[in-house]
Amino acid sequence: MGKPRLRMKTELNYRRGSTAHYCSQCNFYVSKFDVKLLDGTSSGIVQPRCRVIGLRNSRRYRINPDGICDKYDNSKYMSRLLGCGGR
Ligand code: SF4
Repeated sequence: MGKPRLRMKTELNYRRGSTAHYCSQCNFYVSKFDVKLLDGTSSGIVQPRCRVIGLRNSRRYRINPDGICDKYDNSKYMSRLLGCGGR
């Protein structure tokens, strides 16, 4: 058995995304979070994280680029896609 699911993920209804909407398109997505060891040095491991769920080192904070939650917001992604640069 793995560690219990992070409460924040349950509260945000974190789940598998759809083909049109998923974490890697979300404003809060961090694709390359440098996981640190207890002494604060880099572990050399890079994993996805979410600014809402938390930028923590524990693997319980790892998210899937294909996931989604109730805080999903892809307005910046859409601005880039539509070429208006977030204005
Ligand atoms: S806010 Fe939700 S949809 Fe956006 S990256 Fe975080 S977990 Fe994914």
